[in-house]
Amino acid sequence: MKTLIIGEVINKNLSSGTLEILGKAKSMELDVQLITVGSEDSPAIGLNEVKQTYLKRASSSFNFSKIASKISEIIKNEDIKLILGSSTYMCRDLISFISVDLNSSPVSNVVDFNLEDGKISTINSINGGESLYKAKINSDHSLLLIRPKAFDPVEIEVNSDYETIEVENTDLDVFDIYIEEKTGPQLEDSKVVISAGRGMVEKENLEMIETLANKLNAAIGGTRAIVDAGWMPYSQQVGQTGKTVKPDIYIACGISGATQHQVGMKDSKFVIAINKDEEAPIFQLADLGIVGDTLSVIPKLNENI
Ligand SMILES: Cc1cc2nc3c(=O)[nH]c(=O)nc-3n(C[C@H](O)[C@H](O)[C@H](O)COP(=O)(O)OP(=O)(O)OC[C@H]3O[C@@H](n4cnc5c(N)ncnc54)[C@H](O)[C@@H]3O)c2cc1C
Repeated sequence: MKTLIIGEVINKNLSSGTLEILGKAKSMELDVQLITVGSEDSPAIGLNEVKQTYLKRASSSFNFSKIASKISEIIKNEDIKLILGSSTYMCRDLISFISVDLNSSPVSNVVDFNLEDGKISTINSINGGESLYKAKINSDHSLLLIRPKAFDPVEIEVNSDYETIEVENTDLDVFDIYIEEKTGPQLEDSKVVISAGRGMVEKENLEMIETLANKLNAAIGGTRAIVDAGWMPYSQQVGQTGKTVKPDIYIACGISGATQHQVGMKDSKFVIAINKDEEAPIFQLADLGIVGDTLSVIPKLNENI
């Protein structure tokens, strides 16, 4: 089936979401081409055996209608039937525009998909990840928004072999851009994630999480409760309305384990939970549970690692 992946360029590289979708497309042996969208000059994103077009937007342009029109044009010209994008702000915007152009509904929160009798069938996550449903797409085009970490990323060797098209966009004037500073390991890609919850008691106690994270080269996440309390920026929230992570080790410190939090971390390979309440739901998915006070357990870990 002729397939288009809408990819993203972040820090001159293909985003992890793009690599995950490429991994799935490769395992299904789909006839894939890639359109990447970004604002950086000459990113390292060319791939062997995958036709690629880089749509370069001005860094101050956040209106995606012109980019979407360009993608719709390519889809129609090349008779592409399956369009895949990661559930990011950009792809959600783009796929909404494209679905109007193609008169077809996007299917969101896809955690798996397959080809059955020439049609795409999907498995979708609903109720904050508590339930799954299966859908079969009967329309001419299948537009899927894939949940992050649904698939394993493909291993790639990059080259500079791709076409660049600059897309002018003057529909919207942007006056100011705030870019959140990112230091240390990033949540989405880190092999170890340490997350804090209300059981860290006070914002100041997050310092001990930082110490532990430095020792383990880990990224730091948090629950919505502490993000809402202003202890941590939203960009570090893990869960249904935050980020989805899938590290080798996830350490939940003072987190109750509400379903909305679990949906963002339940696929972690090994979960360690520290909570003073032995009935806390987080222990149901923990591989190693420590029933204790975070404020005494974490300093001991810091002393001994
Ligand atoms: C639509 C919707 C979307 C949501 N999206 C998200 C989301 O994306 N991410 C998310 O995380 N939440 C989300 N939530 C909120 C979620 O329901 C929970 O309220 C939240 O996850 C709870 O955070 P918490 O575990 O830090 O706090 P609490 O539920 O208050 O749990 C604190 C835990 O710490 C333990 N504790 C307390 N003191 C100590 C101590 N000294 N030592 C050890 N343990 C201690 C307690 O036993 C308790 O289990 C969402 C909710 C809704 C309705």
